[in-house]
Amino acid sequence: MPTAAPVTVLVADDSAVVRSLVRVELEDAGYVVVEAVDGAEALRMVAEHAPSVLLLDVEMPVLDGFATIVALKSDPATADLPVVFLTGRSDTGDVVEALRLGAHDYLRKPPETAELLARVSAAAEVTGLRRELRRRTEELDQQARTDHLTGLHNRRHLEEHLDALVTGARRHRHPFSVLLVDVDHFKRVNDTAGHDTGDRVLAGVSRRMAAVVRTEDVLGRWGGEEFLLLCPFTDLEGAVVLAERLRAAVAAEPVEGLAVTVSIGGSVLIRPGDDDRGALLRAADAHLYRAKGAGRDRCEVAVLPV
Ligand SMILES: [Mg+2]
Repeated sequence: MPTAAPVTVLVADDSAVVRSLVRVELEDAGYVVVEAVDGAEALRMVAEHAPSVLLLDVEMPVLDGFATIVALKSDPATADLPVVFLTGRSDTGDVVEALRLGAHDYLRKPPETAELLARVSAAAEVTGLRRELRRRTEELDQQARTDHLTGLHNRRHLEEHLDALVTGARRHRHPFSVLLVDVDHFKRVNDTAGHDTGDRVLAGVSRRMAAVVRTEDVLGRWGGEEFLLLCPFTDLEGAVVLAERLRAAVAAEPVEGLAVTVSIGGSVLIRPGDDDRGALLRAADAHLYRAKGAGRDRCEVAVLPV
């Protein structure tokens, strides 16, 4: 039964009489009803309205019910949509074929009100449960990719995106940069101000950096007081500008009442090779080390040697 959010049912039948009969019954029960006059229109309406249930006639012009369900089942985006076939009284063969093709259920025409509502409700519940399951899975996935101290992405997320972005850069031959950011003298913060303050400093530094990165950049906590920024479509010039922007954003004013700075090492991939990912990270780490040695609160960015 539809309760809070309205549940949409798509009725695909070339008979206006059947459509309007079904529409009245379903709307009385609180469903939102959209109609299609043939299978091809049904496919378009599924994409447009994301219905919870499809009531599908067998015999229709343009694309019949069987061809329509085959198309729906072959597309991962629509394969899970429960399809309830509308079949003629005597067509047992149709029912068998519909179920073989993956139909959720069937109704004899003209459907009786109680049976129509019971079968549509059961099908809608399947969709409701699937959507809830997907939402929870996405939520868990999101949690598994989040660093809870800073709210940034965690290392697992960074590693996966690093692989994907390096692969993309290699395939499409566009530049790609990484920036490794380390909070200067962070051990001193923990030792003198305590770990709680240290945690708040990391969260504060994260917010400063998150505010200045571009939407396509992927910023995360790499570990400890180290952060990694993945910068697609970014050449040396862009990486230098971005690194300096990050450094300045952190140094601009005290974090948790403390003067906090970061050092940044960056590397830029312009000619993709075999070990891009490892080489990028090693180079960024070496440049970070150089930035530390040169006095901290600075950036060292260079193109990956090829
Ligand atoms: Mg028909």
